[in-house]
Amino acid sequence: MGMLEKLCFGERWGEVVNNHSAFAPAGQETETELAEINRYTLRPLTADEYVVFTLDLCHNQIDRHFSCFPEDELEVIHKKVPGRPLMERHDLHGSLPRGTFFCSTLHRQGDILSVRPKVYVLRLDENRNFIANIEGGIYRETSIGFSFSFPECSICSRDIRRCVHVPGEKYEGSLCYYRMRGVQDVLEGSVVACGSQGTSFVSDVRAHILDQFGEKGWLMLRRGYSGGIDKNKAWCKE
Ligand SMILES: [Zn+2]
Repeated sequence: MGMLEKLCFGERWGEVVNNHSAFAPAGQETETELAEINRYTLRPLTADEYVVFTLDLCHNQIDRHFSCFPEDELEVIHKKVPGRPLMERHDLHGSLPRGTFFCSTLHRQGDILSVRPKVYVLRLDENRNFIANIEGGIYRETSIGFSFSFPECSICSRDIRRCVHVPGEKYEGSLCYYRMRGVQDVLEGSVVACGSQGTSFVSDVRAHILDQFGEKGWLMLRRGYSGGIDKNKAWCKE
């Protein structure tokens, strides 16, 4: 398979919005939620068997990779998220999911459009620490894993792996970035510990740039992109 046919895999970061255990829905809302959750279960659950969290998974703003999702691709993600697993990140030992996304909304605030799904996690002994870490504000960042087929250059609209433009550079005053088009799948959503994006974040970006851009990636790294990104200036704690 040539480079041009290669599917792109990405991760983008968001945040935990709130958890429903602190704002228990009343009456009708609980019934609706139960019905949505029980579409994914083999026996009907009762409301005291799970906890629900709301997460922002990704958005339409230019991120620290100098990439962004067009709004119609966010709609694709929004439709694909329900049924996908919630993972605990950094647990690389083939761990099973902690939860299942059961519904999603597209949330607009000003210019920012984000995919905002809900996930349920069973109140099992083995999930107690996981739930406590989210409720306690320790696991407050999220990560979505996905694949897409066409990284479109913002300057010339060609595949940015082929054109001459380099993400992060300015051309006649316009920042070069790429639009992630042709979303194929949503693999999983994860919850990660706050502050875990320090050194691991930089290595993630380096690996991502080299994986997606090949020789152009080396050029970008030589110019100091991964080291020069100020995560405090990017959207959503990125
Ligand atoms: Zn270009």
